[in-house]
Amino acid sequence: MKNEKVKNSEVKTADCCATPDLISVDQAIEKMLSQAEPVTKTESVDILDALNRVLAEDLLSTINVPGYDNSAMDGYAVYSDDCQTTGAKLPVTQRIPAGQVGKVLKKGTAARIFTGAPIPEGADAVVMQEMCESDDNDVVINTVVKANSNVRRAGEDIAEGHIVLNAGKQLRAQELGLLASVGLAQFTVITKLKVATFFTGDEIVAPGQALKPGQIYNSNRYTLRGLLQSMDCEIIDFGIVPDTLEATMEVLKKSASGANLVITSGGVSVGEEDYVRIALEKLGALSMWRIAMKPGKPVAFGKVDNALFMGLPGNPVSVFVTFLLFARPLILKLQGIDNHLTKFTSVIADFDWTSGSRQEYLRVRLHQESGKTVAQLFPHQGSGVLSSASWADGLVEVAIGIEIKKGDTVRYLAF
Ligand code: AMP
Ligand code: MG
Repeated sequence: MKNEKVKNSEVKTADCCATPDLISVDQAIEKMLSQAEPVTKTESVDILDALNRVLAEDLLSTINVPGYDNSAMDGYAVYSDDCQTTGAKLPVTQRIPAGQVGKVLKKGTAARIFTGAPIPEGADAVVMQEMCESDDNDVVINTVVKANSNVRRAGEDIAEGHIVLNAGKQLRAQELGLLASVGLAQFTVITKLKVATFFTGDEIVAPGQALKPGQIYNSNRYTLRGLLQSMDCEIIDFGIVPDTLEATMEVLKKSASGANLVITSGGVSVGEEDYVRIALEKLGALSMWRIAMKPGKPVAFGKVDNALFMGLPGNPVSVFVTFLLFARPLILKLQGIDNHLTKFTSVIADFDWTSGSRQEYLRVRLHQESGKTVAQLFPHQGSGVLSSASWADGLVEVAIGIEIKKGDTVRYLAF
């Protein structure tokens, strides 16, 4: 049961309502991922170009971080023994700013020290300056000092010889910082995934041109390119393809030859002008077609030569939704990312909804209400209404044959 808090009397089981010749979303994802082998080719990158790349090797640190015991505060380095009653008065015998190394600290004295500066030998604690009163020569410590306080120990973040990051990790900003902190500036990553695309339809034209009667703009190209760019793919774009079997076969063959994955839009439904699935069957193999979901039913999966194939529907919202559900985890897996499965969370529905014989993906916007995250529905959920995807923060998933009532907990996928 996907949607909790649904009264039993209202729940019809998936089996009673599902359309028999359609594959369930979960089955389709499982089968699709089982056919995907991560890319193994690697290349070396500079750390400045490494954002979003995927490590091909475990990276070890050759140093401790921090490299030496250092002060976590601006204050005074002391022997904690000397400060076991409040009000201890100690002569200040040295000054240690960050970037300099002090002398051995004599017992019964203090060193003025600043954040990040090495702790002088002998001292075992730093007292923050707000707890101290000082004149030209002495400092009065207005607190009892515990050993180790405000000392950052060598190796407490990363120990020399230990793995910093494992192969399969995608490098976000914080990983780049972490690798820099151990001095690594060049490393081996998986090569960028090559994704070929083309867009079918006699009616579609590029934005920037004037529309003739019966024409629409090719919005899918820009949605898909944006999604692929955000996933750091190398895009090979074959543009608009007319609705003929010949043209579709020609471009499918070309696109498969240089790519790891081919993603298309349109031409996978059951109309007489839909040639993509037929071209796939002629040149390669169709492994799955038609998913029990709304929007997005006509999605087709397969293989041509060495490239995996994913035929997305033509409707603009279907392209966006099916990309998030299918293409995204597939691309992550092909990119060698260990953590590739989609993560749903829970939110509270601010609406009533009854699903039919397909699993539904509703465009919603989130807001906070009495400490809860509540999902508001876009009023027009048609698969051609791209404003819904632009307005929304994410999707509420509604399993087959479910009645959702306002206040129910529902599954949510953020864009
Ligand atoms: P199809 O699956 O080819 O029958 O397309 C379904 C619907 O999506 C039709 O209304 C098409 O006009 C529309 N469509 C197809 N391709 C695109 C595209 N690239 N951009 C915007 N709409 C499209
Ligand atoms: Mg079409």
